[in-house]
Amino acid sequence: MAKGVLKWLLFSISAILIVVGVLFIISSYAETIRFAEGLVFIAVALFIAYFARERKDIEIKQEVRITASAKVKELRCPNCSALLDAQKTQIVYGKPYITCDYCSNKFEVTEEPTW
Ligand SMILES: [Zn+2]
Repeated sequence: MAKGVLKWLLFSISAILIVVGVLFIISSYAETIRFAEGLVFIAVALFIAYFARERKDIEIKQEVRITASAKVKELRCPNCSALLDAQKTQIVYGKPYITCDYCSNKFEVTEEPTW
């Protein structure tokens, strides 16, 4: 979530809190309450470290399988019959859509039934 300087600042705070927490636990032989305080410091440190970690982007790949014998077909706009650029296909909610360059008509690309 957090990036760059903020991330390292949060990790540094987290590391300092862990050291303080461990020191409190070590010194708990003198005062028992310090053991609990030390655990609280470590818990807060882990909480900060958890939110400071960087999340990786999720890549979604969609594979299109052609089920029937394929025929090369020109893709034309159903509104103005202009030739469409298949490279401009966008996947919206899992369905392929093309926007016409000429009339700005946006429509779903569907597969003809194979029967
Ligand atoms: Zn069009």
